[in-house]
Amino acid sequence: MSRISYVNGEYLNHSDSSVHIEDRGFQFADGVYEVFGIVNTKIVDFEGHLNRLYNSLNEIKLKSPIHRSAYFFHIKNLISKNQIINGLIYLQITRGVAARDFKFPKNTKASLIITAKCLQNNEYDNNFQKGIRIKTTKDLRWKRVDIKTINLLAPVLAKQYAADNNCQEAWLIDENGFITEGSSSTAWILKNKTLYTTPLSNSILNGITRQSLIKGLRRNKIKYLEKKFNMKDVKDSDEAFITSATQYVMPVVRVDNFKIGNGKIGKYAEIFRKVYMEAIRLS
Ligand code: PMP
Repeated sequence: MSRISYVNGEYLNHSDSSVHIEDRGFQFADGVYEVFGIVNTKIVDFEGHLNRLYNSLNEIKLKSPIHRSAYFFHIKNLISKNQIINGLIYLQITRGVAARDFKFPKNTKASLIITAKCLQNNEYDNNFQKGIRIKTTKDLRWKRVDIKTINLLAPVLAKQYAADNNCQEAWLIDENGFITEGSSSTAWILKNKTLYTTPLSNSILNGITRQSLIKGLRRNKIKYLEKKFNMKDVKDSDEAFITSATQYVMPVVRVDNFKIGNGKIGKYAEIFRKVYMEAIRLS
């Protein structure tokens, strides 16, 4: 079975799909994106991701190239054409193809591409059982990371730095020593049965997984606080986690040289995963 992608109105063989060399995404990172998790052939929290996509488009003053209702249709088509059971959808919109000029082009239609990818369930489960390791590094991103833009060089460098240090994720530290978030995930620590995560601002992305986990925590009357935390708090924490559309809730067992708990996943990991899975909407 060949892999199929959606490119500006057409369903194409993934290996034959391409974009123009003067696409503004390619030249300026002038675009936004979304990643949707797929669980049992269903889209996780579709409305939340679509709302965030429209917020991102609005913030960069870009008009959606298709009607709002068509996104669901194309994503569902790709899930079925690619026979995805569990996996992810990557969707990207750029300001389209135009002769290179910083100013917005006139009369250029935005480019939309959507790709689908299978993920093996056991990979997530294996990582979950072992927990992941985190490397901290400076948060060198621009000041509007609440917009989900394809301008990802700083997170790319941070993630590579983590990988070079035998870690799976980087936690980004701001100029005041606070951990803002992961290079591609939300950061959490647990202390005295209260879960902490950074409050929303322009300095972090409003994670859809974060929103659903918070919904689940409220429903289950589990204490949480949206409060900044630093490395001292991390060292004092009982457990730690990351969340994202592809990692769901993933326990952290080490941050730099510090073991979290006893270096194994803690008893809340399974609880929070369940709370999250029960809070998501599948469509
Ligand atoms: N923060 C950043 C910087 C991210 O890239 C991501 C993943 N897109 C997240 C947080 C988590 O967001 P979500 O739960 O919506 O995947």
